[in-house]
Amino acid sequence: MKLMLHVAPGIVRYPLIASVILETSALVNIERASIDAVSGEIVLEVPSEKCTEVKEAFERRGVRVVPLEIPVIRDENECVHCGACISICPTATFRFEDWLLVADSGKCIQCGACVVGCPQRALKLVLK
Ligand code: SF4
Ligand code: SF4
Repeated sequence: MKLMLHVAPGIVRYPLIASVILETSALVNIERASIDAVSGEIVLEVPSEKCTEVKEAFERRGVRVVPLEIPVIRDENECVHCGACISICPTATFRFEDWLLVADSGKCIQCGACVVGCPQRALKLVLK
C-alpha cells in the first residue's frame, strides 16, 4: 500500500524514514519525494502487513500520513478515451482494455502529470 507523508517545517531535517525503518523493520520503497529546506511530500510503498505500524511510527514523529487508497479519480462523463494519460503516466497506472481507458489506482504516486496533461480536464487528485 502507498502512504503519502506530509513533512512539516521543523522536522524535515531529521532522518525520519531511516528511523522508522529501523524501528519497524519494514521494507519501504520511496516512490516519490519532493523535499526542500522547509517541508516535504513523500510517497512510500509499504508492505500491507506493516502499513499500520509504519503509519503510526511516522505520526509519532509529527508527520501527517495519508493512505493513497484512491489517489486519482476520473470523471467518466468527461473522459473521451484519447489515451494521452497512458503515455504521460510514469507508473503505468492507465491502460486500454478494448479501447476503453482503465486505471490501476494502486500504481499512482500522485505526481499530477496526468491532471495537467488530460485535454478534457477529466482527472484530479483526491488528496491535493
Ligand atoms: S487523457 Fe483524459 S480524456 Fe484522455 S483518456 Fe486520459 S482521462 Fe480520458
Ligand atoms: S498522478 Fe497521474 S500521471 Fe502521476 S502517477 Fe498518478 S496516475 Fe500517473
